[in-house]
Amino acid sequence: MASSPSPVSPPSAPSTQVRLSPFRLLDLMNGNRKRGSSTDSIGMYAVQCCECHKWRKVPTKDEFETIRENFTEEPWHCSRRPDCSCEDPADIEYDSSRIWVLDKPNIPKPPAGTERLVIMRGDLSKMDTYYVMPNGKRVRCTAEVDKFLEANPQYKDRFSVESFSFTTPKIVEETVSHNSVWKSGKAKKQDKINALSNNN
Ligand SMILES: [Zn+2]
Repeated sequence: MASSPSPVSPPSAPSTQVRLSPFRLLDLMNGNRKRGSSTDSIGMYAVQCCECHKWRKVPTKDEFETIRENFTEEPWHCSRRPDCSCEDPADIEYDSSRIWVLDKPNIPKPPAGTERLVIMRGDLSKMDTYYVMPNGKRVRCTAEVDKFLEANPQYKDRFSVESFSFTTPKIVEETVSHNSVWKSGKAKKQDKINALSNNN
């Protein structure tokens, strides 16, 4: 994987370690984890100003995807928003009252007619990335995009495999470790490890 600025912080690192990268925010309270829903697990989007390091909410997924696309070349700054400056108070503070997931910079914008979804697993251990294709089918890896293009050659002049990125956001562990679902999943894993080492 290309060495993108690594925004990943170890669980107990100060939050200053997670600066300068676009975050996606997951707010589980929004209840949009319905089965078969076409919305993904992200309840809110935010980006951090490269200068004042305050968090600004990004109103739509489309706008977030635009910011993310060229994030390394064009770090986000408060002045990019009309009527906003670094003097204004932050829209949202980074804390563990929500689960934060950290996105990678420079993910291409999903091709027209497709939607990129990131879905949190039930045990909060990991996220999965899918694209909903123009025919409503989901693809989950580049091999499936290839297959789609073979079966639907009319899309070959509209997009290519390079337009798709199945990278997943990093879950910020210190914000998920308060959650009881995550705790019980972790406990189960630890039990397994203990059981295995006891057998040795
Ligand atoms: Zn600022």
